[in-house]
Amino acid sequence: DPGLYIVATPIGNLSDLSPRAGAILSSADAIACEDSRVTAKLLNHLGVRRPMIPYHDHSAPHVRDGLIARMASESIALVSDAGTPLISDPGYKLVREARAAGITVTTIPGPSAAIAALTLAGLPTDRFLFLGFLPNKAKARANTIAEVADVRATLIFYESGPRLAATLAALAEGLGDREAGVAREISKRFEECVTDTLSTLAARYAEHPPKGEIVVVVAPPGEAPPPPADDADAALAEALIRLP
Ligand code: SAM
Repeated sequence: DPGLYIVATPIGNLSDLSPRAGAILSSADAIACEDSRVTAKLLNHLGVRRPMIPYHDHSAPHVRDGLIARMASESIALVSDAGTPLISDPGYKLVREARAAGITVTTIPGPSAAIAALTLAGLPTDRFLFLGFLPNKAKARANTIAEVADVRATLIFYESGPRLAATLAALAEGLGDREAGVAREISKRFEECVTDTLSTLAARYAEHPPKGEIVVVVAPPGEAPPPPADDADAALAEALIRLP
């Protein structure tokens, strides 16, 4: 059927592509994508060839208008390089304008690194706030962190290996030394999720900058571990309580 199809694709393991996503990609009249080389690999895996159209939210308006005009009579799929389109990825403007034009928008839900990381970290899941990528510049980053310091929810950030340690240190500084999880390479061979306090994680990753793609998950305020005891007796008593 004609319309716009938002298709989630794997964030690592290609077997995570749903049969429905595969069927839509195999039959779409065209696929709007971020990087046609990345999407071509996925289509090769499916053994299909479909026309691909590079699309970003900052693409010229005529690119978006052209796609929307086609949706009246053709099926147009939107994918990003990995995961769910629109989530720190292009698509928001396309969906908004397609809806305004009366086009039917259908979603084919699937993997998203933010939700996958939340399921790994062992932190509260009842309320969470996804913040995407923090700003690069230290001042803007500190401002964003300050804005969410009082939010009573688990926080989720996307991050890259080279920036991870600095981001964890900035989070410890702005939020207090909360418990956090660093999820890496989700659904890939070396998937891991390391949990500790923000300051301990910052020290660990400053020494060994990690490779690969990363999601940081931070506990809500008040979920922090107990403050360190301030004298030896109290420390001993505390340690005894914690012994198995
Ligand atoms: N739309 C995608 C989604 O739904 O997951 C996210 C796109 S965003 C441009 C890419 C970021 O997602 C990466 O920098 C990383 O923070 C995170 N990410 C993607 N794949 C991941 C994976 N397999 N493991 C951990 N983080 C991942």
